[in-house]
Amino acid sequence: MAPITPERLSLNTATVREQWSLAECIEGCQRHGFGGIAPWRDKLHEMGVGAAAKAIRAAGLQVTGLCRGGWFTEAGAITEAVLDDNRRAVDEAAEIGAECLVMVVGGLPGSSRDLPRAHALVEEGLARTLDHARGAGVKIAIEPLHPMYAADRACVNTMRHALDICDRLGEGIGVAVDVYHVWWDPELPAQVARAGKERLMAFHICDWLVPTRDLLTDRGMMGDGVIDIARLRGLVEAEGFAGLNEVEIFSALDWWRRDADEVMRTILERAPGC
Ligand code: ZN
Repeated sequence: MAPITPERLSLNTATVREQWSLAECIEGCQRHGFGGIAPWRDKLHEMGVGAAAKAIRAAGLQVTGLCRGGWFTEAGAITEAVLDDNRRAVDEAAEIGAECLVMVVGGLPGSSRDLPRAHALVEEGLARTLDHARGAGVKIAIEPLHPMYAADRACVNTMRHALDICDRLGEGIGVAVDVYHVWWDPELPAQVARAGKERLMAFHICDWLVPTRDLLTDRGMMGDGVIDIARLRGLVEAEGFAGLNEVEIFSALDWWRRDADEVMRTILERAPGC
């Protein structure tokens, strides 16, 4: 397996979200030799979708994904508002040439205990968004989140569940594999093989710190935790995944407090070990 070179890296803007605007992220990626970028929609809207698309193209960066669509369960029903927002996300993904629109599907609405209902809402929301996405030529990637987020962020928590949904919905939908969310799963090798090249749409990297001090914002820099990233990368690459390695680190206690260029340099130092 070839080591990760700078041009095989993509910066998920969440990694430096406290330090840099999207314009600074684009410029920083270019300066540090990264091959790609994955914007979050808040930063995209701040810059303006058209201006961002132009700057990303001018910088020669691949767009490994747009974060994010989804949140289908919040209202307890699939509303026009949530469908509209997802259709807008699809259109934005098309405009910036994103390889996929990443979906964080939503958890349990309010104080509901009805998990099967949440699952059904997610599938309905994905199906209805997919119609629009197919027309726009945008791929939809379900990101299964770690089970600790089942209540408040995403009730699809395994590759198996995500791929079951993909099987039912057909063309144009696959998975975003984030090592932080799936590293613990003994079924991972089998499910990555089941996904196959077409449905492996993104590969997100960071590390799992022990102990983890915050459930959301204490992800580690690659090499500082317990995830065997190289093994997981080997699994997706064995299926033919040829996308970039997208670095996505939420780190309120550490990396968000550092100079962004130091963060970028550290990513470059750690990448060959991943
Ligand atoms: Zn991710």
